[in-house]
Amino acid sequence: MKKTDIAVIGGGASGLVAAISIKKYSDFKVTILEKQARVGKKILSTGNGRCNLSNNRIDGSCYNGNNKLLNYLSSDIPSTEDFFTEMGLACKSDDQGRIYPHSMAASSVLDALRFTASAKGVEILCDSNVSEIRKAKKGYDIIYGENIINADSVIIAAGGCATPSLGSDGSGYALAQKLGHSTTALYPALAPIRTDINNVKALKGLRTYAKATLLSNGKPLAEQSGEVQFADGALSGICIFNISSLAAKYIKKSEIMLDIAPDYTKKEISYMLFTIKETRASLPCEELLTGLFHKRIGQAVLKNSSIALSKTCGELSEKEIYRICDIIKDWRFPVTAVSDWSLAQVTSGGIKSEEISDNLESLFAKGVFFCGEILDIDGICGGFNLDFAWKSGYTAGKNSAEYIYSIKDKK
Ligand SMILES: Cc1cc2nc3c(=O)[nH]c(=O)nc-3n(C[C@H](O)[C@H](O)[C@H](O)COP(=O)(O)OP(=O)(O)OC[C@H]3O[C@@H](n4cnc5c(N)ncnc54)[C@H](O)[C@@H]3O)c2cc1C
Repeated sequence: MKKTDIAVIGGGASGLVAAISIKKYSDFKVTILEKQARVGKKILSTGNGRCNLSNNRIDGSCYNGNNKLLNYLSSDIPSTEDFFTEMGLACKSDDQGRIYPHSMAASSVLDALRFTASAKGVEILCDSNVSEIRKAKKGYDIIYGENIINADSVIIAAGGCATPSLGSDGSGYALAQKLGHSTTALYPALAPIRTDINNVKALKGLRTYAKATLLSNGKPLAEQSGEVQFADGALSGICIFNISSLAAKYIKKSEIMLDIAPDYTKKEISYMLFTIKETRASLPCEELLTGLFHKRIGQAVLKNSSIALSKTCGELSEKEIYRICDIIKDWRFPVTAVSDWSLAQVTSGGIKSEEISDNLESLFAKGVFFCGEILDIDGICGGFNLDFAWKSGYTAGKNSAEYIYSIKDKK
């Protein structure tokens, strides 16, 4: 049987940093067990291949789930930018505070982590799918394939369920459950929101700037502005992603209200449309909106306002113009589902926070720590999820090293 001091299950964002952090605080033997053929596959896909690794505006309001977990992060943790700069990776921010590698290549981020882990002597075992963590006489026996490795401490950094093709498929929860843990309800988040296909069929492929409000039983739950993309039976785009975590929880009776002209009041729009009605009086009514929206969006607005397209602009009644204004400012799309795990960037929900101590250690299995997406916290788009993965990985690594010191002291 192989032996190590600390085993890290999962060589993704949080697991790689956990291993590096252990080596910063100790010389303990660290082994990463990664089920895929290489570590950090997901990192390469982040930020459209550019890796939005953090944000200058991190605070609790950018997270769903239990954002108290942010208080569990180690107080002497360096900023994400400093942490990466120390590893030779230059970073830069855009005008919205999103932090990227200077190279704008996610591979640079993964290389910085891989080179550092290797220089510090972290052992990496790829193609090692962990199926069980078993309490042993001393520490834990970790089963992967036909093999077993014994470790005094274990860090579970196996991610959530989002985008299983990149490695994390929910098996981390199963490992934790065998140790007595349970999870809150798990939902796909940062994902397109599905709606009645007939509502968006004619709009497929188009984008428009909008304010999107998530309503449940008519009550607003969340609001985001930005570019909305009309996809195959779904609404997509960053502002939709950011409300998807809540949408998944309130699917029954929830709908999305789009204001597709958020920079104008209803009064301003009606004034504009009454003017166009006169200047384009003899033209087909679909020309009423071509100065405001893409032609196909205009047509869909008219259809939803129950306007016969055979009319001319001049034939539109006052009532009809107001109906069009209503749809522009309040266009409803019933939520039928949030896209499945294959299109989700993160998992909403995770290991119940009340089952872990404030140093990210299991309350059921001493010496077992958690970090990253497996925990019950998920951020909006903008670098918040990776920031939590790095920082919780750093914290879990440091705390597991301290745990090993404490058990060695007792001997
Ligand atoms: C397409 C995409 C784009 C994204 N872009 C961004 C972005 O730009 N900015 C941002 O902040 N966030 C982004 N995210 C989210 C971010 O990548 C994740 O939140 C983050 O990677 C979570 O880190 P983690 O270490 O917890 O899990 P992961 O990075 O998923 O790593 C978990 C690792 O554990 C391994 N593993 C799982 N189970 C086992 C097992 N049983 N045995 C052994 N190994 C196992 C997996 O193979 C994987 O390598 C994106 C996500 C996706 C899918």
